[in-house]
Amino acid sequence: MKVPLLDLKAQYATIREEVERTVLEILESQWFILGPNVQECEKQIGEYCHCPHAVGVTSGTDALLISLMAEQIGPGDEVITTPYTFFATAGSVSRVGATPVFVDICPKTFNIEASQIESRITEKTKAIIPVHLYGQCAAMDPIMEIASRHGLVVIEDAAQAIGAEYKGRRAGSIGHYGCFSFFPSKNLGCAGDGGIVTTQDPDRAERLRTLRAHGSKPKYYHQLIGGNFRLDAIQAAIICVKLKYLDGWTKARQANADRYRHLFTETGLVEKGLVTLPLDLSQTTGSRHIYNQFVIRVPNRDALRSHLTERGIGTEIYYPVPMHLQECFAPLGYHEGDLPESELAARETIALPIYPELSEDQITCVVQEIRAFLESSS
Ligand SMILES: *Cc1c(COP(=O)(O)O)cnc(C)c1O
Repeated sequence: MKVPLLDLKAQYATIREEVERTVLEILESQWFILGPNVQECEKQIGEYCHCPHAVGVTSGTDALLISLMAEQIGPGDEVITTPYTFFATAGSVSRVGATPVFVDICPKTFNIEASQIESRITEKTKAIIPVHLYGQCAAMDPIMEIASRHGLVVIEDAAQAIGAEYKGRRAGSIGHYGCFSFFPSKNLGCAGDGGIVTTQDPDRAERLRTLRAHGSKPKYYHQLIGGNFRLDAIQAAIICVKLKYLDGWTKARQANADRYRHLFTETGLVEKGLVTLPLDLSQTTGSRHIYNQFVIRVPNRDALRSHLTERGIGTEIYYPVPMHLQECFAPLGYHEGDLPESELAARETIALPIYPELSEDQITCVVQEIRAFLESSS
């Protein structure tokens, strides 16, 4: 049985008519950049994320970049973040001229280990960027407490976490900025690149709005050095169509995760320590995991991945090389062994298909193939 890692066509088939109608309306209007559709998208995403302000931008990467720009973070400044994330998190810090400072992850949640943050704070530290990896929030209470004690800005990288909750609070509503991506493979994806920044603070929102249009206010009078970070109307309108279905899709992802847990436990692989399931904090802390990814730990990960590929099962490694060991960050001076939990996670983890339209049979098939491999190789 073929099981792709992600099947965007399956989802599109359920909303095709609505999306087509919406896109055609925009083509008729010929209003492509910002405008009423973007405003509506900002209003709806703001409400969904429990934030009074949301500013549509060109991508999740640019959401991070423009948040750093809005805080005037630049050369000589340090920003604390996790090395176990997509490149954009640390890349944005370097692109504004600041220095990323990496703190290792908690091996159970894969998110930044909050208890190690304080020891890396210096007079140069300006911000912390926690990443809500795979759709589960980082430990925001201790992070916000440390940040407020040291006067630091917190930029949530919530690119994988739209609708996730930490103790009842939505991702993106806890820090000073929440950065979201509408890249097609995220839980709420558009038909291209897109992103949004949420904030509780009207002054920050105003700065973001100015910066995304070349820093001009009014037009042709440049207060700040901004850039072109504008969300376009077609993407915004598609996001509004899809947002109505997001909670249903999230429920389906959670049900798929439950099914994996149940089946893996039944196989005995968990008890034998051959499969480590992802920790879901929702039972214990009133949080909400939205399962952008379902990531397990296994021994012999690369061989398992080849086995699954041969059998038509899609998987991915998020992420094979932690940021502190990337070639482009070599000048930062990190070495192998510096952040051992991130390095171990990079070796042991594999993401399984978790998309909402996955069938029960497909999940059973994935578990059976993993079982067959692990039992024969152990
Ligand atoms: C996807 C992602 C981004 C970047 O979003 P884009 O829209 O692709 O630019 C940033 N951070 C994390 C953690 C992501 O997963």
